[in-house]
This record gives sequence, C-alpha cells and structure tokens, in this order.
Amino acid sequence: MNLANKQILVVQGDITQQGVDAIVNAANNSLQGGAGVDGAIHRAAGEELLKECLTLGGCATGDAKITKGYNLPAKWVIHTVGPVWRGGNNGEDELLTQCYRRCLELAQEYQISRIAFPAISTGAYGFPLERATKIAITEVKSFLEKDTCIEQVIFVCFSQESYNCYQQLIKKILTGEIKT
Ligand code: ADP
Repeated sequence: MNLANKQILVVQGDITQQGVDAIVNAANNSLQGGAGVDGAIHRAAGEELLKECLTLGGCATGDAKITKGYNLPAKWVIHTVGPVWRGGNNGEDELLTQCYRRCLELAQEYQISRIAFPAISTGAYGFPLERATKIAITEVKSFLEKDTCIEQVIFVCFSQESYNCYQQLIKKILTGEIKT
C-alpha cells in the first residue's frame, strides 16, 4: 500500500536476510542476546554485535537503542524491548506502541529510509498476535503520515500464521474498514 510516496509491505521470511537500511530486533532488557529473532540476529551479525550491545547499559521496555549491523546485509540494528504479556491490563498495549514509535524515531534520527520489523513480543513474550499486529500497523501508519525520511517499512513474518494475520489486518486498517 502507498501513503503518498511511502510503502508498507508484508513479507514472510527471515529478518536477518533483509537488505534494508535497518532491521529491528525484539531484544530483552539486558541486550545480551537471547532466543528467537534476537538469537538469529546475533548469529547472523557476528560477535561484534554483542560487544557493542554490552556497551549500551541495557534497554528499558518500550525503548530502543541502535547499533551497527556488522555481518548483516542491513547497516543498522535497532534493538527494542517489547512487553511480556501479563493479561493485557499492565500497560502492554502502550508499551508495544512505544516500541514501534521509538524505533521509527531512531530511524528518523539516523536518516534511515528502509526499515524491517519482526512481530515484536508475539513469540516468547506471549502478546496475542492479532492485538499486537493491529498495534504494529496502526503505529507505523500514523508515523508515515507525518513528515519523515522513512520511505519503506517491511513487516517480516516468520510464521505462516503471522503472515496471514498481517495480510488480513493491513488491508482492513489501511482501507479504513477497521478504525484505529
Ligand atoms: P519476543 O520475546 O519479543 O516475543 P521472539 O523472538 O520470541 O520475541 O518472537 C518475536 C517474533 O519473531 C515471533 O513472531 C517469531 O516467530 C519471530 N521470529 C523468530 N525468528 C525470526 C526471524 N529470523 N526473522 C523474523 N522473525 C522471527
């Protein structure tokens, strides 16, 4: 879909292979690497990434920090920490929204034009997929409607289920069938 000259794409695949300016990592507070997409990014980037991460002093939930991409095709990695799902009444929606916003703000600061996101918090952190997907798409859409150097956002879905969910919701949200 296009918002003037902006593009939001949904693809199924491995985020470590994306040839964009920045990929987003669904990290944990320590920024010391972990399982899931975090582990895949550290393996693909090489050990220099962990060395840089260790200099950053961790990252608060809902915040984001940027490093170089080292052996990745992407020049930058933006590490964000999504909320752990604890039933939905513990600020999870707001914290997940903040993750997307902080990543996009950092991308803007670094003059990044193409950025790829994984489905933050929907793996080990247990955030319900549909609810997380609505938040992801809504926040990206509203950011791209502003004056920004970001031209392309790619949602990289690892599973078929996640891909289907993004495909369905993106159409509904961008056509206004779902009001957000
Ligand atoms: P979190 O702890 O934030 O839930 P996870 O890494 O467990 O992070 O999962 C977040 C999402 O990333 C899940 O939808 C998972 O399927 C997906 N994922 C795992 N590996 C990759 C990868 N290599 N590329 C893109 N997405 C991935």
